[in-house]
Amino acid sequence: MPDPSTTSGAGATTPDATADLTADLTANPDVTPLTAPRPASALATAQAQLASAVEILGYDDGLHRMLATPRREMNVAIPLRRDDGSVELFTGYRVQHNISRGPGKGGLRYAPSVDVDEVRALAMWMTWKCAVVDVPYGGAKGGVTIDPSRYSRAELERVTRRYTSEIMPIIGPERDIMAPDIGTDEQTMAWVMDTYSVNLGYTIPAVTTGKPLPVGGSLGRATATSRGVVHAAAAALGDAGVRLDEVTTAVQGFGKVGSHAARFLHEAGARVVAVSDQFGGIRAADGLDVPALLTHVAHTGSVVGFEGADAVSNAELLALDVDVLVPAAVENVLDEHTAGRVKARWVVEGANGPTTTGGDRVLAERGIVVVPDILANAGGVVVSYFEWVQANQAYWWTEHEIAERLEQRMASAYAAVSALSRRESLSLRDAALVIGVRRVAEAHQIRGLYP
Ligand code: GLU
Repeated sequence: MPDPSTTSGAGATTPDATADLTADLTANPDVTPLTAPRPASALATAQAQLASAVEILGYDDGLHRMLATPRREMNVAIPLRRDDGSVELFTGYRVQHNISRGPGKGGLRYAPSVDVDEVRALAMWMTWKCAVVDVPYGGAKGGVTIDPSRYSRAELERVTRRYTSEIMPIIGPERDIMAPDIGTDEQTMAWVMDTYSVNLGYTIPAVTTGKPLPVGGSLGRATATSRGVVHAAAAALGDAGVRLDEVTTAVQGFGKVGSHAARFLHEAGARVVAVSDQFGGIRAADGLDVPALLTHVAHTGSVVGFEGADAVSNAELLALDVDVLVPAAVENVLDEHTAGRVKARWVVEGANGPTTTGGDRVLAERGIVVVPDILANAGGVVVSYFEWVQANQAYWWTEHEIAERLEQRMASAYAAVSALSRRESLSLRDAALVIGVRRVAEAHQIRGLYP
């Protein structure tokens, strides 16, 4: 390994380098970019992170390109007959970034901002995530460019079934296994599983994870990502001799990940002083009553207006004077500007890609510890793996068994990342990437090139 002091951090790709590559790309559209065209895009972040790991590992350009390039991508048109009889057309994607260690694995996102580059980035992060926690999968992601809040349940069912039938040739329990992500849920996974199964003529529960329990879902899957976030936070604090019941925390995002993370942090004794969602945020210096807040959200659909709390914007929340900040919403919220205002000592990434490369550099300069997404939010895919194993064996584990095995996996993954980070003076992100990327590269190299 080269001297880590010259390669650690996320500064491997400067804005100038990005501009050069963009120029290259325009000149030769056949060249797959190692850095994405748009500087602050999720794909730019993912590619720069990979470049940093590749530099530390000393891999050559050929291997770098293989690791940077999705193995397979499918773009599909999804016509929807709306409830009023009119027809709309959507675009959907499934990107299999890597399938060297096993089937593709990753969520399905419904959001108006979805584009193929975002799906590519999310698929790449799934590859490293699955490798870091050593589950036998590659990485994949799907997306449909749609605002699900504007469509009825029946319309979303039709979109999901048409999307599934379009991508049927490349998915399957041994090919590519889907799970929920932003804008999709357990019901979406049941529709995907049903469409796939009906087309093949028998029931195949292992084609999706994150399903409802009655159709082969796993106990503990719905809250697994959040549990994993709290295990990762506890481990990172533990490295500094600090316990969860000694800290204050702010959680950005109150969806599938953030709401349960806030609950588990509260249950572990941490003081949750602020949370936010897409409508706004709330803060209470003495700590929020998280169970009461969950009831408020169940009734009103938002954290906004919770009694006894003051309003706070999403931007203000990131800059609050707390010990632990948990970004659990979307990509790119911590860039070089917002990162400069963070006062937390630890950032634990519940979301995928919440920190840009510039944000990472600023946080590192300021001595803030970042527990990276591919480690911190890996609890979801760990329990997805448990769900897939259970479905394949048609034998179901208890909630206790799942919670225990999840905790063990998170603890051993964190310990390996933390040990490498100390030994080689790497950030936790670079250490996690090095472990993940090396496992994937090893699989490539052992399997060899065909033909
Ligand atoms: N949306 C989840 C993630 O980003 C999907 C993981 C899974 O496939 O279970 O980690």
